[in-house]
Amino acid sequence: MPEFFQYKKSILVKSVLFFTVVIILSLFCIGYLINKKATNTVRLYNQDKLSHASNIIKKQFYSMLSEVENDISLISKNIDVSYLKSATEWNNIPQLELLFSTFLTEKPNYFQIRLLDVEENGKEFIKFIKKQESIQKIPFSELQFKGNKVYYKKALQTSDKFYFSEITLNEEYGKLSDPYTPTLRAIGKLYDAENNLQYLIIINVDLSNFYDEISQLNQSEIKNVIVSNDGEYKFHQQLAYCFGNQTQSENYFQSDYQASLDILFQSNETIKFIEDVQGNSHILKVTPLFYSSQLNKLYLVTIASEKSIFANIYNINNYSLSLIALICFILLLSIFFYTYYFVKKIKRITQEINDYNTLNTERSYLNEIKYRGDEIGVLANTFLRMKHDIDANVSKLESSLLRERKAVKEKNEFLQNMSHELRTPLNAILGLTSLLNKNKPTAKQKPIINALERSGKNLNGLMHDILEEQQILQGKITLNPVKTDLNLLLKTIVSNYKFEAIKKGLELQLNVSENLEDKYFLIDPLRFEQVLTNLLINAIKYTNQGQIVIDVTMHSSRLSLSVSDTGSGISPANLNKIKERFFRVPNASGEKVSGFGLGLSIVKKIIDLFEGTLEVQSAPEKGSIFSFIIPIKQVAPEPNSKRIKDVEYPSKVTSLHVLHIEDDISSQVMLKSFLSEYKIHIEQCQNIAEANRKLQNNCFNVIITDLMLDTSNILDHVKNELTRYGIPIIIFSALEYNQENDTRLVHIKKPESLDNILDALVVSTLKDFYDTPNLEKVYDLYDHNAEKIKNYLKILYKEFLIYYQRIKDVSIEKDAREWNAIKHKILNHINTLDLTKTKDVFENSIVDINAEELTFLRDNILFILCFLRTTINSKD
Ligand code: ADP
Repeated sequence: MPEFFQYKKSILVKSVLFFTVVIILSLFCIGYLINKKATNTVRLYNQDKLSHASNIIKKQFYSMLSEVENDISLISKNIDVSYLKSATEWNNIPQLELLFSTFLTEKPNYFQIRLLDVEENGKEFIKFIKKQESIQKIPFSELQFKGNKVYYKKALQTSDKFYFSEITLNEEYGKLSDPYTPTLRAIGKLYDAENNLQYLIIINVDLSNFYDEISQLNQSEIKNVIVSNDGEYKFHQQLAYCFGNQTQSENYFQSDYQASLDILFQSNETIKFIEDVQGNSHILKVTPLFYSSQLNKLYLVTIASEKSIFANIYNINNYSLSLIALICFILLLSIFFYTYYFVKKIKRITQEINDYNTLNTERSYLNEIKYRGDEIGVLANTFLRMKHDIDANVSKLESSLLRERKAVKEKNEFLQNMSHELRTPLNAILGLTSLLNKNKPTAKQKPIINALERSGKNLNGLMHDILEEQQILQGKITLNPVKTDLNLLLKTIVSNYKFEAIKKGLELQLNVSENLEDKYFLIDPLRFEQVLTNLLINAIKYTNQGQIVIDVTMHSSRLSLSVSDTGSGISPANLNKIKERFFRVPNASGEKVSGFGLGLSIVKKIIDLFEGTLEVQSAPEKGSIFSFIIPIKQVAPEPNSKRIKDVEYPSKVTSLHVLHIEDDISSQVMLKSFLSEYKIHIEQCQNIAEANRKLQNNCFNVIITDLMLDTSNILDHVKNELTRYGIPIIIFSALEYNQENDTRLVHIKKPESLDNILDALVVSTLKDFYDTPNLEKVYDLYDHNAEKIKNYLKILYKEFLIYYQRIKDVSIEKDAREWNAIKHKILNHINTLDLTKTKDVFENSIVDINAEELTFLRDNILFILCFLRTTINSKD
């Protein structure tokens, strides 16, 4: 059952619920309307019944009166009044006796016939009564005077031939006769020949039969009563309620119903509504029964209790309501089971569609029902056919994919193997090319050898990239995050390419946001450098004029770096493809630009390793912006280590005067711009003659020179001419040169970092001002083992970096304890390295020492650092 409720959103369930509600509402509406109609019909029917009953009684009443009238007329016709008057003996009137007894016998309702003598003030002249079916003539002695009776007086009053008295209970000699007999006195008049009223003929009519007939008309819901003017019941179902005036009972119409008698007297025979004293509602109809020229007024009241009238309706109501409820219940139940049945089926179907991949079609439910003619069957059939088609296509695709993967794998393996295999002969080619270069090639051979070298290097780069990418693809390269001064790393990478950029006449600018300065981050510097280098190389490669700007910002542990250039840009069509391996934008100008289309592919893969994103924006001929965002974690700096922000140099460098001999303008620009940053004065010339001129006229501290000027090697000039000036000479050239026996010359091989030149420049020019460490003891200590010595020097370098920072701080804080601590630590090195000038300064206490001496000490340490750097680099 619970799964039924999972289908709250099912259209089927929703529509079923909707239609159920509609059906139930309609049923209730129909029920209500039928009930209303039925109530009306019953009401009308009962009103008809009321009218019908009252009409019957009315008719019977009046027909009874006319029957009695007829009888009296008949009797009158048979009476000879003059004869009666003459008759002295009242009992000697045989035909009258016969007439009276015949009528009493024949008419069951007549129980008394009398003649009253008007002249004798209503004395009974003759009187016959019927008692227990026997006819008796009342003896003369028992005859009475009736002149004082109301009926006698009223009969005389009326001019009508007949008079009917009020209906009362019969009295015998002033007592109510037992059983109570409702009686109507019908009075006729007998006249003599002179038309004088002589006798009244009176028939006492027993109304019991009339009452029985009314009683029979009274049904459970309809009641008839006859009420007099004052509300006395003349007829009531229970005789004891009648004739309250005579029986002294309390029962009057107005004591049973909450209505004044006026309701009776507004006798327009319409249906009225009334409440009884218990508050029950009734409908009633009043029919006036007036007689004897309206001398007597009776009202026939036909009443029906609403409760009993509508009892049936209530029953019908209850019945129809329970029927509707039952129908609704059965309806709901069947709808519920019907929906449940379908929902279950649909659920089974959707479940199987859900289990698409694991579905066993043969044994599936869908297979069972696929031949059903209904929609479910069609659905199942369609799905199975579709699955069959899809499965077939998928298996085709899978096998093609497998084949393709195999082919790609084989291609990659081939590339990898080929790269490995090619590297060895390639190295040999490069070695041999450099050998050719050293063997003084002729001017004709030179460009060929250069082309050979360039192609060799290109090929070597490609092999390197292929192997590198392969390693990333195979997951062999993982990130190795270490604590890194990112700002320093960025500056170093960018400075490595400054030369390249300047050579092409491009401006290279690095903007690092302030929140990256003086901070350490956990990052793999090698891979980071690889990414930035690739982007930088591309920017330089594809830009011929303008600038390259590197913007680095840091926000919520995410590093954003963008390399923007003003180069050739990339067309929108190619923008999406450039990250693919081996994709290169075809060059429209036909100009050959080196590259194999692997750089960005590697960049993308490394950025994926960094869990970052790479984006490219570019517009042809306007430039490109390659930007990436990588998550990055800041870490605390090394405890107790104060770092030196950048490489610093002794303050004396600003007073240096350099002569630069170089015929390549871009190299000139590059060195000049670099040395100017340190406020080093530089003069430049393009040949030896000019150099000699300048040297003779000016005072320089150092000469920096290239060896190849305008295709001629000037080494001999350097050795023979320039050394004469007695100033240090730094050879900055791509040419190999063996300097072993010539200590006057320092050789820095192009394209070394410019920092190395500055180090060499400082060491060679300022060695007499500062302490030049004597490394003899160190060499001895490490048995002249180059590797060990290099490691020692690296440690030494780091320690001196710390000394420098501590000395810088102590110069400001003048903390004697710290001063002594530094002195204590550095003393060991002073002795090992023969640092006499340093030692002299430390002889003083920090309070006695002056600012000049402290500046000297700092510069001295910076010089030692320069020295150590050049020594370490020369051991590479
Ligand atoms: P390539 O070795 O050819 O430079 P890359 O993968 O580094 O290979 O770059 C793919 C292609 O993207 C290049 O051939 C070049 O057309 C285009 N491209 C890359 N960087 C830039 C850029 N900064 N400006 C213009 N085009 C670029």
